[in-house]
Amino acid sequence: MAVDSTLPTPLGVLASDKNAKALQFIEEMTKNVNSVQQRVLREILSRNADTEYLKRFNLNGATDRETFKSRIPVVTYENLQPDIQRIANGDKSPIFSAHPISEFLTSSGTSAGERKLMPTIHEELDRRQLLYSLLMPVMNLYVPGLDKGNGLYFLFVKASTKTPGGLLARPVLTSYYNSDHFKTRPYDPFNVYTSPNEAILCIDSFQSMYAQMLCGLIMRDEVLRVGAVFASGLLRAIHFLQINWKELAHDIANGTLNPKVTDASVRECMKKIMKPNPELAEFITRECSKEDWERIIVRIWPNTKYLDVIVTGAMAQYIPTLEYYSGGLPMACTMYASSECYFGLNLNPMCKPSEVAYTIMPNMAYFEFLPHESSASCFVDLADVEIGKEYELIITTYAGLCRYRVGDILRVTGFHNLAPQFRFVRRKNVLLSIESDKTDEAELQNAIESASLLLKEFNTSVVEYTSYADTKQIPGHYVIYWELLVKDSVNAPTDDVLNQCCLQMEESLNSVYRQSRVADNSIGPLEIRVVQNGTFEELMDYAISRGASINQYKVPRCISFTPIMELLDSRVVSKHFSPCLPHWTPERRG
Ligand code: AMP
Repeated sequence: MAVDSTLPTPLGVLASDKNAKALQFIEEMTKNVNSVQQRVLREILSRNADTEYLKRFNLNGATDRETFKSRIPVVTYENLQPDIQRIANGDKSPIFSAHPISEFLTSSGTSAGERKLMPTIHEELDRRQLLYSLLMPVMNLYVPGLDKGNGLYFLFVKASTKTPGGLLARPVLTSYYNSDHFKTRPYDPFNVYTSPNEAILCIDSFQSMYAQMLCGLIMRDEVLRVGAVFASGLLRAIHFLQINWKELAHDIANGTLNPKVTDASVRECMKKIMKPNPELAEFITRECSKEDWERIIVRIWPNTKYLDVIVTGAMAQYIPTLEYYSGGLPMACTMYASSECYFGLNLNPMCKPSEVAYTIMPNMAYFEFLPHESSASCFVDLADVEIGKEYELIITTYAGLCRYRVGDILRVTGFHNLAPQFRFVRRKNVLLSIESDKTDEAELQNAIESASLLLKEFNTSVVEYTSYADTKQIPGHYVIYWELLVKDSVNAPTDDVLNQCCLQMEESLNSVYRQSRVADNSIGPLEIRVVQNGTFEELMDYAISRGASINQYKVPRCISFTPIMELLDSRVVSKHFSPCLPHWTPERRG
């Protein structure tokens, strides 16, 4: 394979002229971390000096780190929520930012069951684009010839809504793909996608995926890299192919387009692409009808050099499945970003998933780090973090978030020049995740309580529970283990009631979960597995036999350790699934 992951640093040694500027920029930023951070903070604070937020804390125009840190509190979303609500309701005064709020970005992190609303300003698009523009120059150092073909990327937009005050609210990638920065991007041979903009921008996930898959199949020989934002998205695409290959092959054979694709602009653009190609249709039929789908990615796209997907954090659970479908292709995790701010990139993108470290670019925002699990709240600057230590990330952005806790825990693994490189350790308080959904312990507890109400009339209660994100099949689904106390066995809850409990749990989970279930089909029906009485006591005995203290033992609310799962599964007496989809609309619940 034409992949060389041993090229020397510093970056730029082997760079072509075209990419040299981007690499030089990375070098400049990473050599001057502290001064860039100082400049960024000065810029943010001076332009926002007259905002209500900074005035509230009497910053009085100061732009130095010491005054900033002594006067401005570290906050969470919940602290900002009343001000965010004012903006959502139409208050246009400069609350957080001197620049007008252009829209809200809806994070996959939730607050009170709904996506968090992150105010953003128009110029942030430039910053996001700048970070994107650095990715291929870095990749070119490791993988030659990417300008000789295409990228098959499964990219999607989601539903947008408007706040009461008329601002758009949508996910950050939906905002980016709909921007001119993306739609009218100049031709770049290193960034040619098989998916037309019309297919990417189609809001219907089936139609979008169908058109993107068709294009990918038609251009199979030119495809040099296959990707999606997260690993779960790429696996969803493979699953889609498993279900729809016959219809796709039929369209390819005849040069037609499935009538299920009704979006006029998608139909219009596909008309130009579709031509009868019976030979290709035959090939696809031959490959896809085989029982064994091992290496399907390289069988269909034989020139693929790597997969471009994030497999760090919650996505690590998908690595074995992706290895199976790709025959062990390298998986490049190229960047680390969020709705609040794009953070940085991986300067060694062909490394093993377990070694991925992201270099935070000091020009993106002002970054602080709170040592994780340390009692002292001493905030450390980007340039001063220490190798081997874990920190919680805190950001101050151009859009006006000040000392905001992102909720990510990062570990410093090294430096590029003077810029620290971080391993993504985990997101705080996330128990279950299949794709972008993030369910925390309180949400799970709430859902259990809500479902338990259905058991009341059967004199039954849930005495213990735990959970597991089952991603062995696509789409993955939540599995909840229940131990029940049935007081009146003659009147025990029926199968139907327990199925309804599954649905009730789903209804109680946050809107990102329900959107994934309803609009994206990326999470399967929630499952309850009822276990024999005494199972959770056995679980405790097992933990104690392995050294847990009886006094401190707590039932783990989420499990992934194989022996524990085997124990639970061997005690299952019945399995129940949600019988239908929970409620979800793009509108927020309140
Ligand atoms: P959102 O605000 O919905 O875009 O989600 C952003 C969050 O996704 C981040 O704060 C991280 O928790 C997670 N995330 C983003 N990029 C990565 C990455 N490369 N590796 C692991 N987790 C990531």
